[in-house]
Amino acid sequence: MQRILQPGDIEALDRTSPTRVRLPQPASLFAERAARLAQKAEGNPIADYLRFLSHLARAQQHAAASVQTAAPDAELIARAQEHSMPLMPAASHVDPAWHGVLDQLVQACAGAPALPEALAPVLERLRTMAGEERDTLARRVLVGLLSESEDLAAAPLVMAALQVVFADRASRLREADIPYTEPATICPVCATAPVASVLRIGGQSAGLRYLHCGTCATEWHMVRIKCSHCESTQGIRYQGLEQLEPGAAQADQAVLAETCDACHTYRKLVNQEKDPLGEPLADDLATLMLDLLMGETDYARASMNPLLPLSDADPSADPLP
Ligand SMILES: [Zn+2]
Ligand SMILES: [Zn+2]
Repeated sequence: MQRILQPGDIEALDRTSPTRVRLPQPASLFAERAARLAQKAEGNPIADYLRFLSHLARAQQHAAASVQTAAPDAELIARAQEHSMPLMPAASHVDPAWHGVLDQLVQACAGAPALPEALAPVLERLRTMAGEERDTLARRVLVGLLSESEDLAAAPLVMAALQVVFADRASRLREADIPYTEPATICPVCATAPVASVLRIGGQSAGLRYLHCGTCATEWHMVRIKCSHCESTQGIRYQGLEQLEPGAAQADQAVLAETCDACHTYRKLVNQEKDPLGEPLADDLATLMLDLLMGETDYARASMNPLLPLSDADPSADPLP
């Protein structure tokens, strides 16, 4: 039987081609994130919150070691590839294993040394919430439809549990399973917008820019001259703390805001050539000061960080619990 080669097969034949998709390895992903959050907490204006999130990421690492999600579905993969669609759009593919993960995270957070005061009632609410209600909340968190303040406060914990199950499912895929999606600005696995992008070092990814999914942690390659929000190749610029506020105490040149004059948004680029320990989601959180300064420019943030309790609907909301 003859079979026409798919784009993934062709790339697999070419050993010199760059890695197109970097699938997550949950154990090291959450461990590295926890370490980075703790490191970046030192002297940070939101030190306590970063320390709490470091504790949460450790709990995610432990949960990831035992979680059991559904195996990859060959039919789903074939259909997604045929239509150039993401494999499992997050809101309609929440694995039931997430309930057990949420229970584990809630329990781990209850003993966290830096638990923000406002989160204590949130933990209690999630602990006693009925399964069906939890699933509805998960879907609303994933599509960003949150208006109640108590749901906003719960969103980071809900997302943390969802990250564990989605990263586990993504980690069991092979690069050849991942469809070439249109647009290229959403995650090819779970259809989430990237939280940030990262310029990687080492191996076949060296010197390449990847967009990092805030839900399943899959990374997919996109050339640097392109806007990660609208794919424009015109008017891309970079702004860092040093440019925005000369003499700033924490001029972190490893993280810059990449701005686009076509869609007037920005998304951060974490440059591992400047700091090899840079981790897209953690470094995005640790540079909230850059967001505050970008708030005074014409550029709007392209997508939110899933671990910050802030809604798209209400940009004036206090970003911290
Ligand atoms: Zn994803
Ligand atoms: Zn753009």
